[in-house]
Amino acid sequence: MDGTHQPGRARQVNENQCQMCMPLGGVIAFKGIENAMVISHGSQGCSTYMRLANVEHFNEPVDIASSGLNEKQTIYGGEANLKKAIDNVLRVYQPNVLGVLTTCLSETMGEDLDRIIASYAKERNLDGVDIIPVPTPSYSGSHTEGFWAATRAVIARYARLTEKHHRINVIIPHVSPADIREIKRILGMMGVEYTLVPDYSVTLDRPYGGRYQKVPPGGTRTEDIARMPGAPVTIQFGLTCPDALSPGRLLEEQFGVPLVNLPLPVGVDAVDRFIDTLRELICGPVPDQLALERGWLLDAMADSHKYNAEGRPVIYGEPELVYALTRTCTENGAPPVVIASGTKNSNLAGLLVPVLADAEETPVLLLETDFATIEEAAASAGVNIAVGHSGGKILTERQGIPVLRVGFPVHDRTGGQRILSVGYTGTLSFLDRFTNTLLETKYASYRTEIKEKMLIRSC
Ligand code: SF4
Repeated sequence: MDGTHQPGRARQVNENQCQMCMPLGGVIAFKGIENAMVISHGSQGCSTYMRLANVEHFNEPVDIASSGLNEKQTIYGGEANLKKAIDNVLRVYQPNVLGVLTTCLSETMGEDLDRIIASYAKERNLDGVDIIPVPTPSYSGSHTEGFWAATRAVIARYARLTEKHHRINVIIPHVSPADIREIKRILGMMGVEYTLVPDYSVTLDRPYGGRYQKVPPGGTRTEDIARMPGAPVTIQFGLTCPDALSPGRLLEEQFGVPLVNLPLPVGVDAVDRFIDTLRELICGPVPDQLALERGWLLDAMADSHKYNAEGRPVIYGEPELVYALTRTCTENGAPPVVIASGTKNSNLAGLLVPVLADAEETPVLLLETDFATIEEAAASAGVNIAVGHSGGKILTERQGIPVLRVGFPVHDRTGGQRILSVGYTGTLSFLDRFTNTLLETKYASYRTEIKEKMLIRSC
């Protein structure tokens, strides 16, 4: 693959963005920490947008406070507003962890969060709550970078030199709550003790019933994060994550915890690598149940390969998921002909080279891109299926390309939080959906196509 290709005119503006904003990713990471709350330091509109995106996807109330900057603070500074916002959040939510995420506005104003928070802590004699600032200006990164930056900041805040123990660290990229539950199920089946960060498997997918709590129960405990430096290894599903944002790299560089960076376990090869890594750690066999699930997946791959060979996908979204799904589609005889991400800081381009080395057709790779560009590339490449989040619905509306919804955000279908793609079981679910989407298109139009061909012949 020879780097990025931008068809058509050079775009000066982003037309139908392919990524979400940076603090939004940070919010999701903080929602995976026990008893945590977040403040967006910026205008009211930023937190409203982030709440809406999260609520539509997770179908849960997702509280995000705001320092509510307006014209006056934009000129004179937002310190007083932020301190008032912190006062209110501590009073109403009583969190133990408070993430403060900057926005385009507060970063452009040059707000010194470290100084403001230090001054707040001194003035209020702060006790029992940790305030963690994370710079997340959206013009320098997408929600993917915000997610990694916040996860790294939380680990950097709590990780302490500690006695060695046998509990491994597991660091996940932005996946669905259902995916987190599946990763935990596999770890449990393999008999591995672990600390998984950030764990929003329940906080962003709450079961019905019980008393409503402003901060939902669940999430990674800060005591467990503090002990991460004593772990024998960190497994991070973050090959595309640059070192500067990598939480696993931080634990390795500062505390010497070996980092095993793995692809997200989607597709037989990637899940095998995850299971093999665990098997080496426990020096034990793979449970029968997992072997069965692997067998079912292989059987499904054999059943569907004749249909998948007709697939010409465009895969777009967050780099880690795009990389995982590119591997999975390639593994199943449907290598993507267009690959796209709105994120700019990632290792995606280099990672794709070996995956697509044997592909008959060199795919178009679009990085830091938008849907106008993706649409153009998809139309000229003859794409017949799109794989990614709801932003791609424009491909259906304008080009008639069906979208298999996966990733974030999924706001025009229900159950975004339950889309399962990881593990043998999740891959099987993805594969069935992929194949059936192709078949649905085929059977919706094949009679018309046959008639058209017959008409041409008879002319
Ligand atoms: S102004 Fe920036 S931080 Fe606020 S919602 Fe828009 S992109 Fe996100």
